[in-house]
Amino acid sequence: MTEQLQAQVLIVGAGPVGLTLAIDLAQRGIDVLVTEIRHRGEPPNVKCNHVAARSMEVFRRLGVAQALRDAGLPADHPNDVAYRTAVTGMELSRIPIPARRERYTATGGPDTWWPTAEPPHRINQIFLEPVLFAHAEATPGLRIRNRTRIDDFEQDDEGVWATGVDLDDGRAVRIRCQYLVGCDGSRSTVRKKIGASLHGTDVVGRVQSTYFRAPALLGLLKHPPAWATFALNPRRCGNVYAIDGRETWLLHNYLLPEETDFDSIDRDWAIRQILGVGDDFEYEVISNEDWVGRRLVADRFRDRRVFICGDAAHLWIPMAGYGMNAGIADAMNLSWLLAGRLHGWLAEGALAAHEAERQPITEQVSRFAMNHALALQRQREGVPENIEAPGPEGDALRAARGQALYDLNVQQYCCGGLNFGYFYEGSPLIAYDGEVAPAYTMYEFTPSTVPGCRTPHLWLDDGRSLYDAMAMPGEGYTLLRFDPAIDVAPLEAAAAARGLPLRTLDIRASAATAVYDRPLVISRPDQHVAWRGHAVPSDALALVDLLRGAAAVAAPTSEQERETSQ
Ligand SMILES: Cc1cc2nc3c(=O)[nH]c(=O)nc-3n(C[C@H](O)[C@H](O)[C@H](O)COP(=O)(O)OP(=O)(O)OC[C@H]3O[C@@H](n4cnc5c(N)ncnc54)[C@H](O)[C@@H]3O)c2cc1C
Repeated sequence: MTEQLQAQVLIVGAGPVGLTLAIDLAQRGIDVLVTEIRHRGEPPNVKCNHVAARSMEVFRRLGVAQALRDAGLPADHPNDVAYRTAVTGMELSRIPIPARRERYTATGGPDTWWPTAEPPHRINQIFLEPVLFAHAEATPGLRIRNRTRIDDFEQDDEGVWATGVDLDDGRAVRIRCQYLVGCDGSRSTVRKKIGASLHGTDVVGRVQSTYFRAPALLGLLKHPPAWATFALNPRRCGNVYAIDGRETWLLHNYLLPEETDFDSIDRDWAIRQILGVGDDFEYEVISNEDWVGRRLVADRFRDRRVFICGDAAHLWIPMAGYGMNAGIADAMNLSWLLAGRLHGWLAEGALAAHEAERQPITEQVSRFAMNHALALQRQREGVPENIEAPGPEGDALRAARGQALYDLNVQQYCCGGLNFGYFYEGSPLIAYDGEVAPAYTMYEFTPSTVPGCRTPHLWLDDGRSLYDAMAMPGEGYTLLRFDPAIDVAPLEAAAAARGLPLRTLDIRASAATAVYDRPLVISRPDQHVAWRGHAVPSDALALVDLLRGAAAVAAPTSEQERETSQ
């Protein structure tokens, strides 16, 4: 017999992106069902190690940042990135990144000055997902169904019927929802069903990864441990991540462009060259994975009531550790749009913003990641034979290479631009005012209130983070007012007339920076600037209608979209 379920939003996939989306939606008062193939408690692959500051800001708002911060590497384990001739060899240079014990207080490092209340965090996905899952399970309004695979869906004017199977008893499952979001990863069924295809560069690099246990390795290090240790020698180059900070490690052996056959490389030999250990060194393989780094972005993120987020929508070589983080940003972009639509304060046209805003950003990030991977490949090519030579000549070579590796890689490991620099152009929900947003790179950014940019963070005089003082889930827009003499009642009245949740927040911040060069700024629920001004506009209702997507054209059907894109 078929089991029938219903929810306002069905999320396919309980990976980090699906779980974050589900928690945020539920906290916004939406009834959410998540389906997941894996068993409850089944760990994911040992992949992601870097949780960006921007994702940690999201987790702070969702009430799970501290639990995540407390998990992963030991509190005093350095989060540095070390460049060495081998993991147990000579050190060339080191990017200092504070251990989590000092993460909130450290100064002087390349990422310690960032304008945020939540600096980045280093934690492997195998530790991160169980914390997120537990938080999701404890969130009212959120149900998770493990061992349920979604295979198909059909849409009509009022909603979506999804069909799947309970993998334990083989029973068919039908789910009625108003919106469906595919967070079902790289092989996404939902992506295929909405007719999206991936475009970009099929092969950027090949990597042979080994997750292993080696309790003796820490004791063989000649330098303090690091979170990531890159080995550069003429025999084999690779990167090794400390997973539990004691005995488990993840090693990536980067193949040369001409090494197209994974099996042609002796895995054990390569591991020993990267670690710098002899045949008598013992390690136990926990799992192996051979994978291809790509740069692929879907040509559409939506078909009417169905959306895709995360790896379902884009895949790229994990330089800067930004696959999951970009997926979480997708999810936070979509969550408030769906919630606003379901609560009735956003118009149908608002939903077009997700693809309009996120697709160009993921395209940009994918290019940053690919270009970085190619630059790193050039560093690995032609490693001097005498890089391990003792004495002044070797020292000079190591110092030069160490500096070059630092200069290149501080850009990916302290990727301020990816966190804070991106901005939404061409959105139907943003009131642009003609000023161009500052350009950004992977590393560099300029905080700005140009509409579309991230709402610049600042510390209020009462010690709170601006983000803590702004609207929480369940609320909506925040009107930041830097001059209490400005009458904002007409704007508040216009918002109320349309049911748009808008709360005025008077900002008292002596350090209020020059960046806020307009006394009024409207920040969206996802902390992007929607509008700014010196005074409430004469037609406040028109502004409110623009913000809520009522000024935009109605969302086209998939057929219309295809026609116009041809
Ligand atoms: C070596 C490596 C290192 C990385 N390092 C980083 C990093 O440091 N930082 C970072 O941000 N990213 C990193 N990434 C990328 C990151 O791991 C992924 O981007 C992230 O896991 C994507 O999350 P997701 O939730 O979109 O998809 P997934 O994690 O793939 O989750 C999808 C879920 O959907 C489920 N599912 C699939 N199909 C169905 C279906 N039909 N029905 C129900 N459930 C389904 C799956 O079982 C799975 O649990 C790395 C990737 C690799 C390979």
